[in-house]
Amino acid sequence: MVDKQKVRYQLQEIERMNPCKQINLMEVCGTHTHAIGKSGLRQLLPQNINLISGPGCPVCVTDDWEIESYLDLARQGRVIIATFGDLLKVPGTRGSLADARGDGIRVSVVYSPLEALTLAQNNPTAEVVFLGAGFETTTPVVAMSVLEAKERGLKNYSVFSMHKLVPPALAALLEDKEVNVDGFILPGHVSTIIGQEPYQFLSRDYGKGGVIAGFEPEDILETVGMLLAQMNQGEPAIKIQYHRGMAPEGNAVAREAAAKVFTPEDARWRGLGLLPESGLRLRREYERFDAKAKFGLPQVPPTAVKVQPGCACGEILKGIKKPHQCRSFGRACTPMEPVGPCMVSSEGTCAAYYRYAEYQGELA
Ligand code: SF4
Ligand code: SF4
Repeated sequence: MVDKQKVRYQLQEIERMNPCKQINLMEVCGTHTHAIGKSGLRQLLPQNINLISGPGCPVCVTDDWEIESYLDLARQGRVIIATFGDLLKVPGTRGSLADARGDGIRVSVVYSPLEALTLAQNNPTAEVVFLGAGFETTTPVVAMSVLEAKERGLKNYSVFSMHKLVPPALAALLEDKEVNVDGFILPGHVSTIIGQEPYQFLSRDYGKGGVIAGFEPEDILETVGMLLAQMNQGEPAIKIQYHRGMAPEGNAVAREAAAKVFTPEDARWRGLGLLPESGLRLRREYERFDAKAKFGLPQVPPTAVKVQPGCACGEILKGIKKPHQCRSFGRACTPMEPVGPCMVSSEGTCAAYYRYAEYQGELA
């Protein structure tokens, strides 16, 4: 339960530290975006402190080519697609996985990659392809499913890797002239794995502070206060607010499992384009578990595919536009009938703004 007294005190402290100029703080995690929307923090903070949402949802940053590619694979009818529910309704140019399932294509919603592995074991005559979309938080468990598949001698399990890495995306944002960020509210869950170190370049090379934040409203307000204090002192640094959830060095065991199976490669992000070493592919020794290799698909999207007409997801993901500034928001695009992934995914920015009515009735 929210500690109202603490929130009042934190807001007073923020007022006290307020530099009274426009401050843009980007939250790089869809869970933060939802926590901010749910608790109404955007409205409680002073108007000059602008919380903007970044590329914090792995489904949202998935490139259209990747979506088209796994949809094509599904439609060929050669495989059973195993996926988390979030990808089910993401539309491609010829419909979504949910539509494909309606047409008799085999699509199975799973809650973990290990469940997909069991599916493969129980269907020895079928090929099961697990759709791996996620940041550093999810790659260790996907890697473990590959190691387990090898251990069990399974030949009909593979992973379609769309995994992405957070730090290269932050670097790309800071290199982008259109993007205007003064500090980062850094993702708690991703950081439980990677720790504090991979963000040091933000302050060292770009002079921007970052604070790894927990997910309660009090955590986010404390984080905003910590960022303002850094700005007032002119000392940008990478700090941790989420001490209860992570160790500064992250989780080495999980990182080792991920590194055993995956290796970085260039990847194409929705909105951010092709970023060097920002994605993960399976290492050569695990190629037989790599769906792209197994089914002869290109590893990295050759070119960006045309986005859904009327969808501003790319600009939303860079924090250049807010959801209500997309002309489809709340009209052609709603969670019931989403046009782009930012509205489809439960962690998407547009879904959060829609759910918590943050547009306050003002549609562009
Ligand atoms: S917890 Fe991880 S996957 Fe979920 S929104 Fe945050 S960064 Fe993204
Ligand atoms: S409101 Fe819909 S169409 Fe517009 S950017 Fe968001 S997801 Fe895309």
